[in-house]
Amino acid sequence: MHDVVIIGGGPGGYAAALYAHNFGLSVALVEKERVGGTCLIRGCIPAKTWLETASVYQTVARSEEFGVRSTPPTLDWPAALARKNQVVEGLVNGLSGLLKSRGVEIHTGVGRLVSGGVEVTGSDGSKTTLQAKATVVATGSVPRSIPGYDIDGIRIVTSDQALDWERQPRRVAVIGAGAIGAEFASMLADVGSEVYLFEALDQIIPGMEPAAAKTLGRAFRKKGIKVKTGVQVGAPNLSGPSVVVPVGNESVEVDVVLVAVGRAPVTEDVGLDAMGIATDRGFVEVNRETMQTTDPSVYAVGDIVAGTPQLAHVAFGEAIAAITYIATGAVAPVDYRAIPMIVYTHPEAASVGLTEAQAIERGIEIEVTDHGMRGVGRAIIHGETGGMVKIVAEKDGPIIGATVVDPIAGEIIHELMYAVGWEALPAEAAAFIHAHPTISEGIGETLLAAAGRPLH
Ligand code: NAD
Repeated sequence: MHDVVIIGGGPGGYAAALYAHNFGLSVALVEKERVGGTCLIRGCIPAKTWLETASVYQTVARSEEFGVRSTPPTLDWPAALARKNQVVEGLVNGLSGLLKSRGVEIHTGVGRLVSGGVEVTGSDGSKTTLQAKATVVATGSVPRSIPGYDIDGIRIVTSDQALDWERQPRRVAVIGAGAIGAEFASMLADVGSEVYLFEALDQIIPGMEPAAAKTLGRAFRKKGIKVKTGVQVGAPNLSGPSVVVPVGNESVEVDVVLVAVGRAPVTEDVGLDAMGIATDRGFVEVNRETMQTTDPSVYAVGDIVAGTPQLAHVAFGEAIAAITYIATGAVAPVDYRAIPMIVYTHPEAASVGLTEAQAIERGIEIEVTDHGMRGVGRAIIHGETGGMVKIVAEKDGPIIGATVVDPIAGEIIHELMYAVGWEALPAEAAAFIHAHPTISEGIGETLLAAAGRPLH
């Protein structure tokens, strides 16, 4: 009998397995592939590795601006792919070793909830049952598609295949300008592909501060990305060697279509229905204090949880909450108010807490402060002055949201994470002096302005 049996070895599952070590729990982890899940194997890590290649390429392409003569860069795509694979391998191997060193028993196979534990079906069809006091379901998500766009893996693909393209596509249509679509569009355009980005809603990265989406859109157009928002694509014509995508009254001809319209939870064959566990359109309903499902001995974390963001770091937090409750009976819920969200495009767009529109929707009286990166010394040094900071605070109250656009926005958003999480007043946060010259000074200036005493 194990204290905990976990189904799924992605960020939700492996974090639960690793964290359980703090309490001396005996843990078994059931995974059908290698450990690492979407994030390590076909998500965050490989995607950000490709984005890093694009960033290096652009640094070389722009080198003369900085007084460094170089020949125009050429991309060795197979070498970049090999580096991506090497980064992934290193992290997967490191994770396997860490799980082993923590005494986690790994079972390779497909896990399914049964009364009192988890049934594991191996690749040879053999079945074993692991008894558990508690089970954690962390089965993750898979890419969705849209009608007419059947994923063939060659001309109609999702991020799963795009991360492993063996050669650079010349012309790409990306459908969906959420985080995945925007990141691929940014990366591909930066290394010279011709990119179309089609979004059904009226801005890229729907849900993000409109000013930030506009700033990012401007940067995208400058890279040559043909961005179209508020459009519906028709069924593609695949009769020729290329793909023709109808968009409104026009159509575009590309070599490949990347569908990035969201991810569906993997909950169908996990035994949730048989156990009578409540789901909502495939997402699992949980008590967000403890991560318990409607069966108190079964927990759910990560992309399958109803109503929480599909982000690896949210899965980590939810795993910690579940394991803490299993081990101690004390609640340690995720503070969903202060989750950083980062789109790793170039430039990056990062946010935490509420946007202006979300605050207004909740009837909160607010004060909003915007600041551009134009006058920030380090931004000028970087040659990247198009960014911005926006802070949303309650009127005469704490900071409740913030957005930053800058090539390193994803790093510096964390100071605003603390401001939101600790409910800092603008004046309290502004009392600390930011180092000069830094990009973070853009935040410092915005805080001073939000406190009513701008400096520059
Ligand atoms: P998403 O839901 O974030 O974005 C999908 C986009 O596709 C939306 O903007 C939607 O309006 C658009 N769309 C849907 N149907 C369309 C259609 N027919 N035509 C044009 N546009 C259409 O999903 P995603 O980008 O696929 O990402 C999946 C999940 O993974 C999200 O929850 C995302 O937050 C997460 N993710 C996060 C990061 C990150 O934080 N950097 C990176 C990758 C993925």
